[in-house]
Amino acid sequence: MSDEEMIEYISRCALDSNAPRPSIETLLHAFLPAAHIDHTHPDSVIALTAIPTALELVTRVFGDEALWIPWKRPGFALAKDIAVAVAEQPAVRAVLLEKHGLITWGETSDETYDSTLEFAKRAADALREVSAEHVPLGGEAVSLVSDEAADSLLAVTLPALRGALLADREGAVLEVDRSDEARFFASSRRGPAVSQIGSPCPDHLINTKHKPLAIEFDPAGEDAEALATKLRDGVEGYADWYREYYEHNMTDESREFAIDPAGPRVVIIPGVGIVTCGADAGKARFSRDLYRRAIAVESAADAAGGFGSLTEQEAFEIEYWPLERYKLAQAPAWGRACGQDRAGHGWCKRYRPCGGTSARRARGACSGCRLERRRSRSCCGRDRR
Ligand SMILES: [Zn+2]
Repeated sequence: MSDEEMIEYISRCALDSNAPRPSIETLLHAFLPAAHIDHTHPDSVIALTAIPTALELVTRVFGDEALWIPWKRPGFALAKDIAVAVAEQPAVRAVLLEKHGLITWGETSDETYDSTLEFAKRAADALREVSAEHVPLGGEAVSLVSDEAADSLLAVTLPALRGALLADREGAVLEVDRSDEARFFASSRRGPAVSQIGSPCPDHLINTKHKPLAIEFDPAGEDAEALATKLRDGVEGYADWYREYYEHNMTDESREFAIDPAGPRVVIIPGVGIVTCGADAGKARFSRDLYRRAIAVESAADAAGGFGSLTEQEAFEIEYWPLERYKLAQAPAWGRACGQDRAGHGWCKRYRPCGGTSARRARGACSGCRLERRRSRSCCGRDRR
């Protein structure tokens, strides 16, 4: 069964035809023989499964208690692989998905939750054990600037960055992350290079892209003008890479989806911190939050022997996967804060980009609902004409 067929099938099983479409990982949960299933993306588990010695370490630490499943895009085939592997090894208590996350189960939600915490902790302990002597990310390479110095640098350079990002998008809100972890990662010897290996989790891709833009900058010897120039040039270079990435990895499955704005969603500035970009403040902050997870995973994996990510092809298959694009289609359209119906017709529960207008009015007017229009269904599933 293809993933599209699976989604069609489980959508028809819904008791409420207006309910949101079930997750692509629905059958992953359904095929496991337990009342409660947790699927999470703990930093420690992703980091543990992203290092070169992952399989060996996982086998040593968890033995028969956990199953290792090599990277595979989520969907029907992965759900089936997991179900078969668990059935063949009844003593197993958890599944570790390479470069992705963890699955645990139990007869109660408490039991399952405790198991999730236990495996995440054991993964963290294992990482700590093999990283004991390591200097995090090679230590600091560039001195951190004070808050006052950062403010004056950013006052000059953020408009330049935003201007460059607006080359192919209608709007951009920037969020500056000056947390300790963001500043250290950006200013460390290996952080910027490690960041270019790729994203640590497939679920981050549509919000952070496969990799950030890492600027080479030293505030000790360079001024705001120099940084502004580097940001403009950096965004241009990044956009060239992204367009090439899009063209090169395009498949029949992804051809129908237009390229996203080609600029970076995450920009690393040594000495200063990390800037994220989104269509609105919420999206910029969401990218920031996800990138903090990326920092945690990449730092831990680097310390434990080296961070590995998905290949560009694998990342693209997730980023432009019709089922992942569906998540974007559910988000409010440009300039619309929450999709609330201004005409007083109530909410469109399934497709916020419709603005909550009735199905008949929304059909053909909603740029976010192309998947549904292709299947001759309306934006909220009620209008089947
Ligand atoms: Zn997942």
